[in-house]
Amino acid sequence: MQTRLGEFEVIDAHAHFFSHRFFTTLAKELLEPPSETDIYPTLRKRLPWEFPESDPARLADRWLAEMDRHGISRMVLIASVPGDEDSVAKAARAHPDRIIPYFMLNPTSDDAPARTKRAFAELGIRGACLFPAMHRFHLWEARLFPIYETIAAHGGIVFVHCGHLKVGVRDKLGLPSRFDMRFANPVDLHGVAKTFPDLPFVIPHFGCGYFRELLLVADQCANIYADTSSSNDWVRLAPYPLDLATLFAKALQILGPDRILFGTDSSFFPRGWRKDIFDAQVAVLEALKIPSSQVAQILGGNLARLLMR
Ligand SMILES: [Zn+2]
Repeated sequence: MQTRLGEFEVIDAHAHFFSHRFFTTLAKELLEPPSETDIYPTLRKRLPWEFPESDPARLADRWLAEMDRHGISRMVLIASVPGDEDSVAKAARAHPDRIIPYFMLNPTSDDAPARTKRAFAELGIRGACLFPAMHRFHLWEARLFPIYETIAAHGGIVFVHCGHLKVGVRDKLGLPSRFDMRFANPVDLHGVAKTFPDLPFVIPHFGCGYFRELLLVADQCANIYADTSSSNDWVRLAPYPLDLATLFAKALQILGPDRILFGTDSSFFPRGWRKDIFDAQVAVLEALKIPSSQVAQILGGNLARLLMR
């Protein structure tokens, strides 16, 4: 098993597990939902993708082959619709040393506390992913505290998508995305992160538009982390020139090398793992002359440390 890319052990902190159940759930939202047997033929008309078998272990095998091909040690795979934690748990059971299972949680649903308990205590899930703009809640609401307590008790990680939110697969399928960005400010985490100082909160894509807010809150809370995932093309929305090198340099200055997690935001096949994203980020780290010990932390060491808690 090849687990090193060059001299570093690489762990991708952000990729999506687009399971059979994921596609089935989206198909049900179509204006004219297809019958069970017609789901993939219907989706294929809009998405030129590979669609997985119903057994999540097969999609797990697909990701494993992809990791081996690129020399990746481990990756976080996120069940990307609410209620799909069993799929990613099965994937991780098939390859427990390589797949780190996270799940999307809608904390406004009545069963969210019980679902969280089951995910962490029984299914071996390692991270809960919150999308405040999608599910319309504030991170500081009291109803989330029992959920944070459960995740903290199991040494888990909270992933919080803040800022600009676009779900490409929904757009391609013509599904409405009634998101509300008022809920997506990283500053909402300030009091929460102070209340749960041992619980890591990971904000993807350097805040995805809320870079300033990420820096403000992360400077005051040592348990707030940033992930570097995706092309970060949200920088085009910044009212001043901003590029990937600036994001890394400033994040290194304020969060330091211990709180930055490399990720790609890989999701579907046949595209597979986003080596282009990895290459672009490594080029930036090289250009900034970041010491190799710090590069090793960013590319995998930091997440490995969080998972050992
Ligand atoms: Zn993502």
